[in-house]
Amino acid sequence: MHHEHDLIIGYPLDGDLNQIGLLCQTCQEWVQIYALGGEPEEGKADHAAIYEEHLGHTIAIRLDDGSRVRLICVTCGADQESGWALLSGDVSDWFEELWNG
Ligand SMILES: [Zn+2]
Ligand SMILES: [Zn+2]
Repeated sequence: MHHEHDLIIGYPLDGDLNQIGLLCQTCQEWVQIYALGGEPEEGKADHAAIYEEHLGHTIAIRLDDGSRVRLICVTCGADQESGWALLSGDVSDWFEELWNG
């Protein structure tokens, strides 16, 4: 649902640095929020830590061949030839909500 919208990483609560999230500026809606400083679930990417590295950066959502979705950091060079994925996953996986709402 946020395809081609303006997404940015930030702190959802003023002055609370224990949470980090992905804000859709187009919808004025936080689409994902993660707690910082916790232990990541085993076998899963530490989304909060990855987001923190890209605080304030512009993010885009890309769909590859209809089955893979990638979160791309535009600020860090997503427009370079092969792009660079912040996170990626199957559409059916955790991206389902982000993509389809
Ligand atoms: Zn949106
Ligand atoms: Zn970045």
